[in-house]
Amino acid sequence: MNDDTFTAALSTMKQQWCGAGRTADCIETADLHDCLDETTIPPAFAEHLRDCGHCRIQLERLRSRQWLWRTALNNNPDAALARAFGEEGMRRLEKMESGGFVSKIVDSLINFATPLWQPEYAGEAVTAADLVEQHNRYESSDGEYVEMSCQWQDEEECLLTLQWQANLEQQSRLWARFVSPNGETILSEVLLGTELAGNLQLTGEELQFHPARRQWALSIIVEDMIEKPR
Ligand SMILES: [Zn+2]
Repeated sequence: MNDDTFTAALSTMKQQWCGAGRTADCIETADLHDCLDETTIPPAFAEHLRDCGHCRIQLERLRSRQWLWRTALNNNPDAALARAFGEEGMRRLEKMESGGFVSKIVDSLINFATPLWQPEYAGEAVTAADLVEQHNRYESSDGEYVEMSCQWQDEEECLLTLQWQANLEQQSRLWARFVSPNGETILSEVLLGTELAGNLQLTGEELQFHPARRQWALSIIVEDMIEKPR
């Protein structure tokens, strides 16, 4: 829902509930946030919402903003946060995030992440003969595993090939997260998808760093799937 369709819906609602206005019993905006999730609305608020067109409109307005925000955050988190924080806020945020990169992965959905793996020669200038395909395997205590292998070139047009194979109990979304070797700075995050095995060729533009010219390490993140948009 964009701003225009929201305004149209709002005016229809106002016409249908003509005369609906704020009363002394109305729910404060701060409390309306407790009503965003339909399933956990406090009973007293639920009762008021049934009878009050004004509060229902306010709630829909909040839900619409929340949806727009989540969509923007999902599509391009850096741009969404830049708009929300403004220039000065963004400068402070970049200092806190040290690389200025905001993760696309929702923390609460992470099922597990493989330990950081730093392939040999990552970020080093070496001869092509040394840059062979390398493998790493992570196995959890309950038999789930993620295998990955990668190979790259030290050329202007850098290309990194990533292969993975996993055995996971439930359907998940897999991400490759490239970070600095100490794990403090996220360099990029690439969505691998839901297939348990696959391979992907990544360009320098997708990686946002050159694998032969900057130190890096890799972790595969296994994210739970959810139905509703984030
Ligand atoms: Zn009300």
